[in-house]
Amino acid sequence: TDFGFRKVNQTEKSSMVREVFDSVASKYDVMNDLMSLGIHRVWKKIFIQELAPRPNLTLLDLAGGTGDITFGWLKNGGGPAYLTDVNYSMLSVGQSRAFDKGYVKNINLFCVDGEKICLPDRSVDRVTISFGLRNCTNKDNVLAEARRVLKPGGRFLCLEFSKLIIPMLRPLYDAWSFQALPRIGQIIAKDGDSYQYLAESIRMFPDQETLKGMMENAGLERVTYQNLSGGIAAIHSGWRI
Ligand code: SAM
Repeated sequence: TDFGFRKVNQTEKSSMVREVFDSVASKYDVMNDLMSLGIHRVWKKIFIQELAPRPNLTLLDLAGGTGDITFGWLKNGGGPAYLTDVNYSMLSVGQSRAFDKGYVKNINLFCVDGEKICLPDRSVDRVTISFGLRNCTNKDNVLAEARRVLKPGGRFLCLEFSKLIIPMLRPLYDAWSFQALPRIGQIIAKDGDSYQYLAESIRMFPDQETLKGMMENAGLERVTYQNLSGGIAAIHSGWRI
């Protein structure tokens, strides 16, 4: 099989991403558990701790999908949250989960493109994007938009796959993501291609230092990051001062 990266243009990428998430929406949560062996739950827990929810703060969760970050925020005492995503299929799974979990107060669901956020300047206290930036075509636009809608003193947090910093783990990680994942995707979700896309998009995503630089270029300040599981994922943080 040719696992080489195919160059795609911008329109192609957004419609491909749409198809991927339309296709995986109903199986998204179970696949996340399978593919990460449950580790994404631990990463998200650390992310929520870092986010430090407070009742007087508002959260905009970009590319929020089926709602994990928004629910973590609400469960830990956060204020009003906007659970947003560009994809209706993902958001509607999020909506059912919100009902099941009894989150009706303090939650609003909106279809929002992270590259063009339909909110006024300086309107929210926290902006999160978890495993979403990788899927956005123009990442610089997302970062600039996140900063624009943040109030001064507000914080942006991104959880995303990143670059492995332990070279010894590389062969294992490559075998898992390029061989096991598409097969699991094929068997469980009947969709190997989407999981092939996933593995490729992870490899093409900017590494820790590059993303830090992009956040600084977007005007975010005091940008820092922490590696999770040896750099398989990372949490980046920046403030609007
Ligand atoms: N945040 C959730 C989580 O951590 O489980 C969902 C992440 S899911 C891997 C990625 C999401 O990004 C999908 O729901 C997809 O629809 C969304 N997405 C892709 N491009 C987007 C864009 N331009 N604006 C907003 N969301 C986007």
